[in-house]
Amino acid sequence: MAKLNENYLDLKDSYLFSEIAHRVNAYSAANPDKKIIRLGIGDVTRPLSPEVIEGLHKGVDDMASSDTFKGYGPEQGYEFLRNAIVDYYNRNCVNIDAKEVFISDGAKSDTGNITDLFDKDNVILIPDPVYPVYVDTNTMNGRKITYINANAENNFLPMPDPNVHADIIYICSPNNPTGAAYNKEQLKVWVDYALANDAIILYDSAYECFITDPELPKSIFAIEGAKKCAIEFCSLSKTAGFTGTRCGYTIVPMDLKVMTSRGVEMSLNAMWNRRQSTKFNGVSYIVQSGAAAVFTEEGMAQCKANVAYYQENAKIIAECFAKKGIRYYGGVNSPYIWFECPNGMESWEFFDYLLNEVQVVGTPGAGFGENGKYFFRLTGFGSRENTLEAVARIEKLL
Ligand code: PLP
Repeated sequence: MAKLNENYLDLKDSYLFSEIAHRVNAYSAANPDKKIIRLGIGDVTRPLSPEVIEGLHKGVDDMASSDTFKGYGPEQGYEFLRNAIVDYYNRNCVNIDAKEVFISDGAKSDTGNITDLFDKDNVILIPDPVYPVYVDTNTMNGRKITYINANAENNFLPMPDPNVHADIIYICSPNNPTGAAYNKEQLKVWVDYALANDAIILYDSAYECFITDPELPKSIFAIEGAKKCAIEFCSLSKTAGFTGTRCGYTIVPMDLKVMTSRGVEMSLNAMWNRRQSTKFNGVSYIVQSGAAAVFTEEGMAQCKANVAYYQENAKIIAECFAKKGIRYYGGVNSPYIWFECPNGMESWEFFDYLLNEVQVVGTPGAGFGENGKYFFRLTGFGSRENTLEAVARIEKLL
């Protein structure tokens, strides 16, 4: 009889978005005349920018001619895109090498796949609340997880406890779901802690494009010492609207080396290269051609304009909570607004209240972990019109 990976039995049901859909569908069936506004989604709504569309078209045209046709590409990504990403980092004052850049089909895959490089027997430190992929992918591998509390007391930016050891540390900044973002000093404390513990930081910077405050680093590699202890995952999903087009990248520094139990030093860059070359055949040339257009001057300006649109939405939502004296996080340097449910309500109770009273859909914090039980997430990814209408309704209600 085939023996299964029984760690899957330990996974918690991922019912968050299906439960939201279920409740919204039931409400809408009972109230067909009511207009529901969805501000719970973590997906973008604006179309790809013209430069990216042109890049994609160029990719398609190249595939149509035998001179420029591309078959299997390099598993790590085409040089033209890896170099464009190196330039992007350089413009943000971070030096990386093209050999450290691995093009992927998105940060979800890579944050999950990176677990291939690590033994089952590691202390995995994950903040609560959190993007659920980190928890589930480690559970699938049978790893035990140590949670670190992100809560109102630490402004949802937990710092390491020097008395607690960790081997692998997940950090997402700006954070999904809380919108909180670490500054340089705070990240330096994490880097120093990782170096002292011989630990590796898995740094998810999927929302770096939302950072406007110069004190908040867009990359962990802006922090001294990080190249010896961190891997960074990034995505074009939010930067350039690639949620459906699929492209991201992972930076694995050459300096990142770990001594094995056999006394051999292993390079994580070489391991990741081997892992990707074995299990992944690269991102489509057409998509990479579109992705390269994100990093041109014109492409960057167009993508930034879309991000600015979402940032303005987030600001409009945040201002509503500020006006109402409701404690909130994010809304600036992040598309997410994370707030305490009023009157001590639990997040699912508040979800129903918001849906029933003003037909606005958000995401209950409980779906992201224990510490989200009394919190709620709204996003700036809707249209301006819907955002303004939702805010007007919420303002009247609260
Ligand atoms: N990391 C975080 C924190 C996210 O919130 C998301 C998407 O919502 C991802 C990664 C996934 O990104 P991608 O679309 O590149 O797979």
